[in-house]
Amino acid sequence: MLDKAGDAVNWQSVDNAHHLHPFTDHKALHEGRVRVITEGDGVFLKDSDGNRILDGMAGLWCVNAGYSRPELVQAAAAQMTKLPYYNTFFKTTNPPAAALAQRLAKLAPEGINHVFFACSGSEAVDTALRTARVYWQTLGKPEKKFVIGREYGYHGSTTLGASAGGMVDMHRQAGDMPNFVQVMPPYWYGYGGQMSPAEFGIYAAKQVEDKIKELGADNVAAFIGEPLQGSGGVIIPPETYWPEINRICKEHDILLIADEVICGFGRTGKMFGSDYFGIKPDMMTVAKGITSGYIPLSAVLMHDRVANVLINQTGEYYHGFTYSGHPVACAVALKNLDIIEGEGLVERSVVMGEVLRQKFHEVFDDHPLVGDVRGIGLIGGIELSADKRTRRFFEKNGRVGQMCRDFCINNGLIMRAVRDTMVFAPPLIISHEEIDLMVALAKKSFDQTYEKVKHEVAL
Ligand SMILES: *Cc1c(COP(=O)(O)O)cnc(C)c1O
Repeated sequence: MLDKAGDAVNWQSVDNAHHLHPFTDHKALHEGRVRVITEGDGVFLKDSDGNRILDGMAGLWCVNAGYSRPELVQAAAAQMTKLPYYNTFFKTTNPPAAALAQRLAKLAPEGINHVFFACSGSEAVDTALRTARVYWQTLGKPEKKFVIGREYGYHGSTTLGASAGGMVDMHRQAGDMPNFVQVMPPYWYGYGGQMSPAEFGIYAAKQVEDKIKELGADNVAAFIGEPLQGSGGVIIPPETYWPEINRICKEHDILLIADEVICGFGRTGKMFGSDYFGIKPDMMTVAKGITSGYIPLSAVLMHDRVANVLINQTGEYYHGFTYSGHPVACAVALKNLDIIEGEGLVERSVVMGEVLRQKFHEVFDDHPLVGDVRGIGLIGGIELSADKRTRRFFEKNGRVGQMCRDFCINNGLIMRAVRDTMVFAPPLIISHEEIDLMVALAKKSFDQTYEKVKHEVAL
């Protein structure tokens, strides 16, 4: 049965009967039709109906090197043959884990020299948050416990990650851990009003400082933020924002955690989002692009400030995962970094990102449905607006975005809708020809969406 990938009806009914999907309204899914993805090649996916789909999202922002890279398959097979698994507890290590830690330390910003491995972005975030608490506890300040995040921030789906993030539906459904708060995100399009982006960047950073003062710096462990907020709608902070956050965290003695799970490994046109924005993190969480999604792996990259306390003062740190430093995952990550560096994918992200944005500007700047085209490197968002002059949103936020997303997929393009922002993050290997196809498919889908909602759009 496993060979018959083309047997769509069969997989759909098997899936319906037994498979619970992440972030899914199951009733709606069961009433509709699940899509069965059977193959990937380069920037394209194939489904069980035989459709060829351009993956404008690189899976979930992770397939940076593109699908079906034989080098990554071989790296996994070779390591599996030699040593498929051993743990890194009990004073043991393995060559790929040690080599990858060294390589990440070399790539990371100045002062970041130590690496703790986990399996998912959520686990990396959990590890960073626990580490922040352990750090302050070790230094005799156990009351420094609060973690400040941002609205629309996404830090994963474990209880700590969801508590740190600013996704209101996640908070509402399952509740939060104590000692987590969120402040306004640096979302100029939505919240900037009459301020210039530069003024608004300072204003949004000040919300963090006000919150620290309100809680008392003696009670705050860390600030956590994505360099740019991916799942929240590709919210790109004005350039005034992060320098202010650096200053605020330093002045109030708060750890700064950069959640690089999406931004890491070339997405923004730099190796890390922290490099792009000039962030000075005490810890960085990475996942997704570290293996181009081929196998689960994540890590927390720690600045000497934190690592030295853990190493010299904490004693045993009671934390870790069965698969921390998994040799196969680390071997794949090493090969993936060979590809990213060897093929110049970080630089490619700058060049092709510029090309893609330029073409989006050409077709969308005067489009009646589009209020904003934004992006850096190969990540961006196109904001659908009911009135582009006043930046007014549509009634029932998310409805028009979903409509547009459905047109996209029917036309053979994956773009995701976050509220009414259409977001994109294609594999970094995307070619000129594929960019042209992506823009043409997006344009067609946006036009179809406009036809359906034009009576709501101010002209
Ligand atoms: C995806 C994501 C996570 C969670 O990663 P998982 O591997 O899904 O657990 C955390 N932070 C950010 C910024 C993410 O984009």
